Amino acid sequence: MRILVIEDETQLAGHITRALVRRGHTATAQHDGALGLRAIVDESPDLVVLDLGLPTLDGLSVLARLRQAASPTRVLILTARGEVEHRIKGLQAGADDYLAKPFSMDELVARVEALGRRSASAPSGDLLKVADLSLDIRHRRVARAGKTIALSPREFDVLQVLMQEPGRAFSRTELCERVWQRDHEYDTRTVEIFITRLRKKIDTGFGVPLIHTLRAVGYTIRAPE
Ligand code: CA
Repeated sequence: MRILVIEDETQLAGHITRALVRRGHTATAQHDGALGLRAIVDESPDLVVLDLGLPTLDGLSVLARLRQAASPTRVLILTARGEVEHRIKGLQAGADDYLAKPFSMDELVARVEALGRRSASAPSGDLLKVADLSLDIRHRRVARAGKTIALSPREFDVLQVLMQEPGRAFSRTELCERVWQRDHEYDTRTVEIFITRLRKKIDTGFGVPLIHTLRAVGYTIRAPE
């Protein structure tokens, strides 16, 4: 993968890029937000490791501009230890995953590579359909009522898991495990944020909602009866 690291602590940025290069990736670093954003536009990396506290343009602003431009680049945000609010804001702004500082390089590499995999689960077919919503696994395209919908990579993965088994209830924990492959940390708030993001994109403005919350159980997607 081609990875861009945007981190103002130059020593940490160096450690991260070297760890990624050792794994066979191409990795470069930028040390402030404005230059980082320009590098994203110029180089269109596959994945961005984005620190939130940055000079010139903070990480949340970089993320917001990226998602406004409907960029499909995967984004892993780095947040300061204990700053839950920042993590939640980052996920709401369009990040695909997060890592809290301090972290081990092994953990970072594992997160980056999990995010780099094309899909959270083995495709069972190329095209999934629920009512007028379609998801093309191979081309990673989603459309509802003939209108193309731009999803971030992890939004796509959550939707794919739901659409592979329409009508089946998925608990937040199961969605978290299937999509983020976090085995020890059942981060249900992250799942809720992604469901909210998905609803805004695939249900709002289309009349009949397809994603349903099942009280005390989780979520399901199904066609209206
Ligand atoms: Ca920083």
